[in-house]
Amino acid sequence: MNLIFLGPPGAGKGTQAQRICWEYSITQLSTGDLLRAHISKGTNLGKEAEGYINSGNLVPDELIIALIKEELLLPQYKSGYLLDGFPRTVPQAIALDKLLEELQQSIDLVLVLEVPDEDIVERLTARRTCPTCGKVYHLVFNPPLSEGRCDLDGSELFLRKDDNEETVTKRLKVYKEQTMPIINYYQQKDLVQTINGVGRLEQIYKNIKNILKNLKK
Ligand code: AMP
Repeated sequence: MNLIFLGPPGAGKGTQAQRICWEYSITQLSTGDLLRAHISKGTNLGKEAEGYINSGNLVPDELIIALIKEELLLPQYKSGYLLDGFPRTVPQAIALDKLLEELQQSIDLVLVLEVPDEDIVERLTARRTCPTCGKVYHLVFNPPLSEGRCDLDGSELFLRKDDNEETVTKRLKVYKEQTMPIINYYQQKDLVQTINGVGRLEQIYKNIKNILKNLKK
């Protein structure tokens, strides 16, 4: 099963993706996580990407496409994957189609998580992330058991540099202008299903599972 999760920043893609991947034994591929790993390792890609990320802009397509091409060849993606945060532009979606054709793979579903703009800033400024395992928390709706520490490995949680009000507003604008057009691209391929990303995490998760249950095999 190969899935794409789409939605504005803070829609809950990463949180839901982690659970879906665990339950269905598929691998989450988050381009944002990969880029952040490059930044913390100080690689050339990380150095190039950092300015774009911190200002809320997209990293150029050619860098992202090269990253994905290398990544999708790894063995952990053989038994299925969930793309979280990729593709984010029409050229990326077209490049993905080309790559999938070469790999003789296809996408089974593009799931769009919808959340109104007014919820996004509140969600992201209260988001905290584990630097070790990537688990995501919300200070009010999904807090860690022990303040400031990851439930899974005890690491100190951090606020992403791009989760401040100014950058979030920019990221939302970028989503509308550059990423939303790919919903139409995938609608033409009859791959899109949309769900409401507002509500209890557990309920949203159930709704996603219902969609996955009904996927044509
Ligand atoms: P995310 O963790 O998905 O919110 O991504 C954080 C940031 O990484 C984005 O705001 C972009 O700057 C960059 N990024 C992640 N994925 C992509 C992508 N597919 N294309 C371009 N930039 C990306």
